Amino acid sequence: MTDLIFPGQQVGEFSVTAISDGYLSASLELLSNIDPADACRRQKAAGQRDPTAIHINCYLVRGRGRTILIDAGAGGYKQWGGDLRTNLALAGVHPVEIDTILLTHAHPDHAGGLMDEHGAAVFPNAELVVHRREIGFWEDEDNLCRASERARGNFQIARQAFDTYRARLRSFDSGEVIPGIHAVPLPGHTAGHSGFRLDSGKHGLLVWGDIVHFPRIQIARPDVSIAFDQDMLLSATTRSRLLDIVSAEQLIIAGMHLGKAGFARIGRTAESYEIFDEP
Ligand SMILES: [Zn+2]
Ligand SMILES: [Zn+2]
Repeated sequence: MTDLIFPGQQVGEFSVTAISDGYLSASLELLSNIDPADACRRQKAAGQRDPTAIHINCYLVRGRGRTILIDAGAGGYKQWGGDLRTNLALAGVHPVEIDTILLTHAHPDHAGGLMDEHGAAVFPNAELVVHRREIGFWEDEDNLCRASERARGNFQIARQAFDTYRARLRSFDSGEVIPGIHAVPLPGHTAGHSGFRLDSGKHGLLVWGDIVHFPRIQIARPDVSIAFDQDMLLSATTRSRLLDIVSAEQLIIAGMHLGKAGFARIGRTAESYEIFDEP
């Protein structure tokens, strides 16, 4: 079986492959600034059969002698996702081959797949690379005390991930995190939410993490945030600014919740933005 069944892009020396982890489900009532009925209408109009389904992608990056995974899916936490390992195998990659995991942020649908059902590291040889503020936020006792009941599980998963990979945990502040891959600060969704950018001549690709959860709603309406955004106002500002940049630069976008196509481009409309799947 080849990885031709998975969406992929080539950027210079790196190949980037979208690997599905499956789905989670989130109520449209969690969205701000939009009536749930309007949100539902937009989902249906865009051909989304289950308007509350959110697809989860991870990205496999190979090149320059590295085998890198960007985010690790939910790993079955709350019965979300859990398909990553099977799909990685279909792409011809065994977990021991992953040498680096770049984490956009430590929410459970991105970090849950780092541990197996016994709490052991799924990727025993991987260095886990995370923004310094992301680690600081989840490990802060005051932040845990302030958290709602729902958010407490998020702390547990993030802490478990950092503990499991502690001996090979590397934090970054900015700049090049791996030769050829730069971190891009995308504040608002979480304390250290970061994108990862690859460039080759005129071709650029940005893995933008959780800039959107419902792309068919939030690209046209960047002012719509979701309750998962720790700072909903800052998230909306970051989203708008980023859509401006990626549409102007015609960057290829990879996003953990962009859907099965895995890659997209953003265009400008008279009043807003639109999304096109990138073949
Ligand atoms: Zn998230
Ligand atoms: Zn997410």
